[in-house]
Amino acid sequence: MRPTSYQVLGDLLVVVWDDGHESYYPLEELRRACPCASCSGEPDLFGRMYGGGPQRYRPDSFHVASIEPIGNYALQINWADGHTYGIWTFDRLRAFSAE
Ligand SMILES: [Zn+2]
Repeated sequence: MRPTSYQVLGDLLVVVWDDGHESYYPLEELRRACPCASCSGEPDLFGRMYGGGPQRYRPDSFHVASIEPIGNYALQINWADGHTYGIWTFDRLRAFSAE
């Protein structure tokens, strides 16, 4: 499953998948669900979580500066506040879709 196109329309990311399905992602929800280690937390060897917890967002935290494809498996969303660590694999992005 991979996107055939993706674009930001207003405050939505619109993704068209190769099976014809269209997904609409509110940008704020995408940012709040950012999968990077500092946003979502990452367990160490002992299961303790690092990162995660409340994030400090700014108004431009929910604006997309650019989106870059990563190989053939993911999209990297570059947020307008300089946060560029969120790499969404296609599987994760598709699963995040509310249908
Ligand atoms: Zn993040």
